[in-house]
Amino acid sequence: MNSALRKAYLAAMQIEAWSRREVAPADAPAVTDAPAVTDAPTAATVADWATLERLVAECRRCALCETRSRTVFGVGDRRANWFIVGEAPGADEDRQGEPFVGRAGQLLNSMLRAIGLAREQVFIANVQKCRPPRNRDPLASEAAECLPYLRRQIELVAPKILLIVGRIGAQNLLGTDAPIAQLRGRVHRLGAGGPPVVVTYHPGYLLRTPADKRKAWEDLKFAREVATRG
Ligand code: SF4
Repeated sequence: MNSALRKAYLAAMQIEAWSRREVAPADAPAVTDAPAVTDAPTAATVADWATLERLVAECRRCALCETRSRTVFGVGDRRANWFIVGEAPGADEDRQGEPFVGRAGQLLNSMLRAIGLAREQVFIANVQKCRPPRNRDPLASEAAECLPYLRRQIELVAPKILLIVGRIGAQNLLGTDAPIAQLRGRVHRLGAGGPPVVVTYHPGYLLRTPADKRKAWEDLKFAREVATRG
């Protein structure tokens, strides 16, 4: 990407300037073991895309099915190198059935463009497929019921890298209660042989806390380096 284009993208993210960040050498980042991508229920494990979509659409495994308008399965290239993991649907997502629409979605699109990716080139899915009432955090039990769908989606896409945006996705998928500040800047793994995982802030948080956009940009560059490294 040329510098003019990069500046345009950074402007879209409302970052005025940025400085080069030293990328850790290939063997430097701490690797955190996370739950393996193998413990999904049988139905999800054996499902192909069509079956998995139907399972989610008809799912009543937790109480969020009572209050949702629509399930939010996920969108994008099902053979993508990049898999973006979000948290849970908000009001717009619940209405439209698509993750990351509205202002947070626009910022996510800008973040992706900043590293040379179109939204259509990645796969995007949330940890939670149904909206929690009043946008509360999903309960641990709700996330546990829903995670097998995301894990199966990750298996089917087989991305080169997983970018988790936000605390809810990171803590649930990585099986930790560490704050996001401790999860950024290093490579995690989804079990042996799983894709590398990089964590950054959720676009919704960045809209409320624009001062942290610079850190998010550092995370994106780090993720791009990890993806390139393979
Ligand atoms: S949130 Fe997940 S587990 Fe709960 S009803 Fe929706 S799809 Fe099923």
